[in-house]
Amino acid sequence: MFRLYNSASRKVEEFVPFEAGKVGMYTCGPTVYHFAHIGNLRTYIMEDILDRYLRYIGYAVKRVMNITDVGHLTSDGDTGEDKMLKGAKREHKSVMEIAAYYTDCFFSDCAKLHIRRPDVVEPATHCIDDFIHVISVLLEKGYAYAAGGNIYFDTSRLDRYYVFNDFRTDDLAVGVREGVEGDDNKRNKADFVLWFTKSKFEDQELKWDSPWGVGYPGWHIECSSISMKHLGEHLDIHCGGIDNAFPHHTNEIAQSEAYLGHKWCNCWMHVLHLNTDSGKMSKSKGEFLTVSLLEEKGYDPLAYRLFCLQSHYRRPQTFSYENLDNAAVSYKKLVARVAALKKDAAERVDENALAALRTAFTDALDSDLNTSLAVTALYTALKADTNDATKRAAIAEFDSVLSLGLLEAADRLAAENEKKAAAAASAVRVYSEDPEIRAIEEAIDARAAAKKAKNYAEADRIRAELAAKGVILTDTPSGTTFERK
Ligand SMILES: [Zn+2]
Repeated sequence: MFRLYNSASRKVEEFVPFEAGKVGMYTCGPTVYHFAHIGNLRTYIMEDILDRYLRYIGYAVKRVMNITDVGHLTSDGDTGEDKMLKGAKREHKSVMEIAAYYTDCFFSDCAKLHIRRPDVVEPATHCIDDFIHVISVLLEKGYAYAAGGNIYFDTSRLDRYYVFNDFRTDDLAVGVREGVEGDDNKRNKADFVLWFTKSKFEDQELKWDSPWGVGYPGWHIECSSISMKHLGEHLDIHCGGIDNAFPHHTNEIAQSEAYLGHKWCNCWMHVLHLNTDSGKMSKSKGEFLTVSLLEEKGYDPLAYRLFCLQSHYRRPQTFSYENLDNAAVSYKKLVARVAALKKDAAERVDENALAALRTAFTDALDSDLNTSLAVTALYTALKADTNDATKRAAIAEFDSVLSLGLLEAADRLAAENEKKAAAAASAVRVYSEDPEIRAIEEAIDARAAAKKAKNYAEADRIRAELAAKGVILTDTPSGTTFERK
């Protein structure tokens, strides 16, 4: 039974979709004005695990993501600079050029991290009519009002507006810092803009006609409208980073439920921040940590994915190069161990052993996506008292969710090792001039020849004979080395 923490109820609950066997999943997408930093990508990696695991346990998942390519302000309230406009100015490009470029960058980063592309990816600029429709209904129902040229959502009309206010302290503090000026048009402090016609930005590029004048949508209306457009009136699960919980998700709930007249989303999944030593990771503070930067420094992006999986999504994680180095070493070792598994077509998978290994894996993910225990299940499979075919089958299955590319990386490594071994074998052996060392080298070659001929008794005899003389052999992928005691 799959159990997940629901931020709305603040409990770990059995996950029950509205319609049996089907899951509608919505993910807040990126604002495409710059590269994503690896802290943003941690959220997408964890959401990807949820997506893949739901499929693994048999659900037909439809996942939808928006792309914010219009009017997202630097503060989650209605203040601050327009992020898209800021990006366009910085790079002397049009807003749409910026959006197209950074959308591609985002999905290329996702591909490197093995994050599955959602089934529907919808740019906000494609849905202006949908936003206008939802806003019109909110006005008709009396949940919205016009003031000073803008359309606002009236939060006082709701019995309960502050859904995720337990997350407020940190995020409100940010809002307060950024949102210096208040908006006199608002009837209540928490009211938010649905449609702007009075832009503070003279050079606002993207504007559309609406019943309330030429303008552009607020940010929050995007996600409500796009979700309802593709996933209908009942949403099973909505995901996002914890910094989106308030006010963004709170406002999404306000709009959607006021529009629909009933409960909208059953389960909310929020991923905690990635921190650095100096606090929450951001684009403006410290080194701008991107996937490309990690690659430039020689890291495999999948080592970063493993780093993320080693920690639970509901805990903040701390990034440091030391931590990433540890993950990179673990990743290499893991690949080497998978590469060492024999590929013997005649070997049968032991279904009972596989089922036992599978239980450890599903138990881990069933309990609120415990990814670090799911990674442990990989190691358990490698150590298990069963044949290599069964181990490979378990790893293939688990990695369909964890997506660390283990079998592919292992096959690449095995091919490399074979090449090296072949090169070493075809090279002319130059023996040492020291007769004692030459004798050892000849014995090592004789042992290698015995092993190649599957005469393991002879190979072991040679190893024992050398050991008796204080010569200890170590087998490495590129050949056998020795040490004299
Ligand atoms: Zn959203």
